[in-house]
Amino acid sequence: MPQPHILKIHEIFSSVQGEGLRLGEPTLFIRLTGCNLRCPFCDTRSAWDGGKELAIPQIIGQVRKLRKRFFTDWICLTGGEPLLQNIRPLTEALKNMNFHIQVETNATLFKPLPVDWYTISPKPELHFAHPKFRKTAKEIKIVVTRGLTLDIIQRLRSEFPVQIPIFLQPQSMKKWSMDLAQKLLRQSIAIGLKNIRLGIQLHRIYNIR
Ligand code: SF4
Repeated sequence: MPQPHILKIHEIFSSVQGEGLRLGEPTLFIRLTGCNLRCPFCDTRSAWDGGKELAIPQIIGQVRKLRKRFFTDWICLTGGEPLLQNIRPLTEALKNMNFHIQVETNATLFKPLPVDWYTISPKPELHFAHPKFRKTAKEIKIVVTRGLTLDIIQRLRSEFPVQIPIFLQPQSMKKWSMDLAQKLLRQSIAIGLKNIRLGIQLHRIYNIR
């Protein structure tokens, strides 16, 4: 008998996309356990370990239940780092339910998957993004840490087509980070970088998950 495909899941919930181009859209979220990075500013470090081992039909069962109370066509696979695990069977099952699938990734790993929307967030210190995302990412988010420089923004801008926006995402909406984001935006404009934008975290403003 074939073994069921198991994924480690931290949580499954309904909310609203709080960042980036899909800001404000009702969305179901599957947060997968585990991350290959250890960012000091991580606000989802509870998802680094633990979680529940669930087979695909169990995950789909929970998603189906949630969707009855909170209908949306969008589902976001997040983490942690969702591409650490083999999520192909999950993405295929979600596609069969006619979901549009967003994946939020730190961009260190790439797998060809039936995904509609990659949101990539390269992390310090390297701010590495797998080259395959140059054609597949819909948006880039850079967390505005104290060490973020114009050089890093400039390098990422040169690596990706200009139609892909780069959001300067204030670290946990802290005042110093918002100030730095504005400063870096002005510097980016001054040297002619295109499609650099200020980001926010809507869920923090509304105080929702
Ligand atoms: S990549 Fe994301 S989830 Fe992983 S440690 Fe960094 S901020 Fe946290």
